[in-house]
Amino acid sequence: MIPVFDGHNDFLQRLVEPDADPLNIWLNGDGSGHIDLPRLREGGMFGGFFALWAPSPADPDGPDWHARQETPPYAVPLDPIIDTNTATAHMLRLAARLVALEREGNLSICRSVDEILDAKQAGRIAAILHMEGAEGISDPDMLHLWYRMGLRSLGPVWSRENHYGYGVPFEFPADPDTGPGLTQRGKELVAECDRLRILVDLAHLNAKGIEDVARISDAPLVSTHSGSHVQSASTRNLTDAQLEMIAGTKGLVGLNFAAGFTREDGKRLPFDGFDPYLRHLDHLLEKLGENGVALGSDFDGALLAAELSDASKLPALIGAMQDHGYGQELVEKIAWRNWMDILRRTWER
Ligand code: ZN
Repeated sequence: MIPVFDGHNDFLQRLVEPDADPLNIWLNGDGSGHIDLPRLREGGMFGGFFALWAPSPADPDGPDWHARQETPPYAVPLDPIIDTNTATAHMLRLAARLVALEREGNLSICRSVDEILDAKQAGRIAAILHMEGAEGISDPDMLHLWYRMGLRSLGPVWSRENHYGYGVPFEFPADPDTGPGLTQRGKELVAECDRLRILVDLAHLNAKGIEDVARISDAPLVSTHSGSHVQSASTRNLTDAQLEMIAGTKGLVGLNFAAGFTREDGKRLPFDGFDPYLRHLDHLLEKLGENGVALGSDFDGALLAAELSDASKLPALIGAMQDHGYGQELVEKIAWRNWMDILRRTWER
């Protein structure tokens, strides 16, 4: 079985739902979602980025944004700024759950590529602590505290406004150039991440925000979970000009499996087979080269292909890549080796 390392999951969010039994969900599954230890092992997924993310307060009068995304065109307005203290408390709960999984013994929070490879060797799941939207960081000192707690990857914004910048709203079809990018504080945050060698994730940034990161950071540009805008005209995807900018830094894109961001028609509905993913991979390979493409599933955070009902089905996707004509070496690069390479070039530069 070809191992898989993955650029994004929202598994931790499931562990803080009311009445959740975190260790039981992790060790045995609860029949929902995409990820738990048995299904990771069955699918060959030995690790990935585990996201800390804070929800916006529910808007009881707002439209059902999932339903709206089933019938493009749609434009979901950007969520407003959320309270930093509330977000920080939530993210600390999520991080504490990840530490609980580590204490249980079958997962390691990894701070270097060597630690990831050690965990892989030992049969433990290798987790990168990632923050999706910097709402859990009130000031630069807090960034340093999170770093000490193991944070090695940070997206300055989710698709929302925060004190660091403006995320990209969910729209289809639409260009990702949707408004202002990073604020002054956001630019300083990126610079401090660069000094600490924390990976700065481009996913959920708008076009101006991506340009800001490219100007400030001297690391390779990385989007952990996005796709090709040519293949699916979602604001969450990267235009050819953006892909060329990423390629210019020998950067990387992890393909997001979300149906609504991979289908040509943009509908947030499951599909049969894996053709949309293969079209995105072909295009990303054309623009980024064989070292610049990886996977960024969005497990537990998105609606996926019907045949990718959870992480245990990853071998079917790997098989589809092989049937599509990708050789063994390329498949292994996409499945995990490119993540190891870019993490070394980011963390150890
Ligand atoms: Zn995301």
